[in-house]
Amino acid sequence: MSKEHTVTTITPLFSAETIKNRIQEIGKEISDDYAGATPECPLHLVVVLKGAFIFAADLVRTITVPCTVDFIHASSYGSEKTSSGNVVIRHNMNVAGRHLLLVEDIIDTGLTMQQIFAALTVLQPASLKICSLLDKPEARKHPVEIAYTGFKVPNTFIVGYGIDYNQHYRELPSLGILCS
Ligand code: 5GP
Repeated sequence: MSKEHTVTTITPLFSAETIKNRIQEIGKEISDDYAGATPECPLHLVVVLKGAFIFAADLVRTITVPCTVDFIHASSYGSEKTSSGNVVIRHNMNVAGRHLLLVEDIIDTGLTMQQIFAALTVLQPASLKICSLLDKPEARKHPVEIAYTGFKVPNTFIVGYGIDYNQHYRELPSLGILCS
């Protein structure tokens, strides 16, 4: 049923202020860990579209070492709330020898991130780590090593702060659980 015909409520999870404070902390941690980055050899953020676009925009402004930004498109959810199990990855990057940090919105079963990680590994970066705003450990089916996590969340359906349901709710400044 479309959103227009369903009564939905969003239970608040993390406020805009809480998100902002946590991102400050992650940005500091990343800046410390990549203190050796230079304009010639910057940290390269690879942002997973579309869900991570707001997170990445805020995160990059808390990072104090030289960095560059690129985007990769991955989709495993159509208009449903469960993964299709079929991840399509699109990118056009040459990142051999670079220090990459993948920036993701949510790691759920881990399938999407596992496949993106594998697709980037074959490009032979100097290093490759993962930063995810949200982690749903209870939902994990495919192991993923997350270097930087914003928040661990229960196995529910989250929206807001760039994260959608059927393209809606990305504009919300906070994160919440979608209940219908
Ligand atoms: P995974 O492959 O780990 O099962 O799913 C990862 C992707 O599914 C995320 O990047 C995100 O796009 C989507 N996803 C997983 N959980 C949620 C959720 O709770 N809410 C929304 N809106 N998308 C989710």
